Amino acid sequence: MNYRMYDLIRRKRDGGELSDGEIGYFIEGFTNGSIPDYQASALLMAIFYRGMTERETVTLTGCMARSGDTVDLSRFGELSADKHSTGGVGDKTTLIVAPVVAALGGKMAKMSGRGLGHTGGTVDKLESIPGYETSLSPDDFLGQVERIGVAVIGQSGNLTPADKKLYALRDVTATVDSIPLITSSIMSKKLAAGSHNIVLDVKVGSGAFMKTPEAAEELAREMVKIGKGCGRRVRAVLSNMDVPLGAAVGNSLEVIEAANILKGADSGDLYEVSVILASQLVSMVRETTVDEAEREVRESIRSGAAFAKMKEWVSAQGGDARYLDDVTLFQRAAHAKDVLSPASGYIVSTDAEKIGEASVILGAGRASKEDAIDHAAGILIRKKTGDRVEKGDVICTLLTNRESSLRDAEEEVLSAVGIGDTPPEAAPLIFGIVS
Ligand code: URA
Repeated sequence: MNYRMYDLIRRKRDGGELSDGEIGYFIEGFTNGSIPDYQASALLMAIFYRGMTERETVTLTGCMARSGDTVDLSRFGELSADKHSTGGVGDKTTLIVAPVVAALGGKMAKMSGRGLGHTGGTVDKLESIPGYETSLSPDDFLGQVERIGVAVIGQSGNLTPADKKLYALRDVTATVDSIPLITSSIMSKKLAAGSHNIVLDVKVGSGAFMKTPEAAEELAREMVKIGKGCGRRVRAVLSNMDVPLGAAVGNSLEVIEAANILKGADSGDLYEVSVILASQLVSMVRETTVDEAEREVRESIRSGAAFAKMKEWVSAQGGDARYLDDVTLFQRAAHAKDVLSPASGYIVSTDAEKIGEASVILGAGRASKEDAIDHAAGILIRKKTGDRVEKGDVICTLLTNRESSLRDAEEEVLSAVGIGDTPPEAAPLIFGIVS
C-alpha cells in the first residue's frame, strides 16, 4: 500500500482515525529520515488537537517500541520488574525500590536516564559512586540480573530511536503535553525494555509535567490501559511533586539519602513513597495482596536485607560499596552556604521546579547537553512545607564546587519558598493508584 503523509495529516486534522498501516508508515519513515520534520510536525500538532483512539495509541506505542533494539527478558518469566517516574526533584526512589524488589525475588532489569532540565536522573546519581559502571554489555546486564536480581544501566543508544527523534521535535513544536504522545513516548520505552511488571510513578504538582491530580490520573489511566493492551502488567501511583521528595537534591547527596533509608531511616515522604512503589511491584511479582507485599517490603528494609542487596548490586557494577557503609567517604563540595529564612512564620510552599533549577545552577544538573555534572553539588533541605520557622533559621544548605553560583542559587531558592502566618493544609503524599 502506498501512503502519503499529506493524507494522514489531513485526516487527523479533520478528526479522523489513522489505520495501523498508516501509523507504521509514519514511524518507519520518520525514523529513517524519509518523512521530513515539517510533515511530522504538522501531524503531531493535529494529534495534539484531535487526540488518538485507544487503538491508534496502542499501535503508535508498539511501532515506536519496535523502532530500534528491544531487550528480551523472557528468561525471567513473570518475575521481571521495572519502574518509571515521569520526572521529579529529589526523586531517588529507584535507588531504594530496585534493591528492595530484588531482595524479595523480583528481577529488576532497569535502564535509567540522565537528568533532564530541573529533574535529576538515576544514571547521574549512580555515577557519583566511584567505579560504578552504567554501561554493561547485554550479556553482562542480563547475567547480573540473573545472579543477583538487579542491574541499573543507562539507556542503550538504539532503544526507541523513533521516540528520541519525536521527543526532540515535540520539544520545539509545543506538542509535548499531549496525552497520547506522552503515553506512547513513555510506554514505548518501557515495552522495549522488556519487563513484564511495570510500576509508573506519575508525579503531580509544581515540579511535575502534570500539574493537577486530574491531569495526572488521565495520563496514568491511559498508560496503564496501553501497557495492558500490549500484554504487560502495569500499575500507576500518583505521587506528590509540589515539593521535592526527601531532603536531598543533587547526585551524591541523593545516593547518601537513599542509603540512609535502607540503613533504617524509616520515616518521611521518601521512605513512604518508596515503600508504596516497591509494594506494587512486589505484589505483582509474587502475586500477593498489596498489604502482604507492603509488610514484606517494610521488613526487607528493617532487617537490612535491602541494604545488603544495594551493596551487592553496586559492587557487581564496579562501584565502591564502602561509600554506602560510610557515606562520609563521598567527596564533599568545597563551598557550603546556609540559606536563612527572611521572616518568621510557616513554610507554606516549596516550589519543586525552582529548587531543581537552583540545584542545576550549583552544578548538580546540566544547562546544556555537553556540561559535566558536579556530583557533590546540590541542596540539603532543612525545613519543608508545613514547618514553623523563625527569621534567620536555616531553611536549606547549598553545596557546590563553583563558589560563583551560590548567589544566584540562593536567590532562586528564596523565590521558591513561601512563608505565611498560618500553617498550610497538609497535602496528600499519594493521590491515588491506578491499576
Ligand atoms: N517523559 C517521556 O519520556 N516522554 C514524554 O513525552 C514525557 C515525559
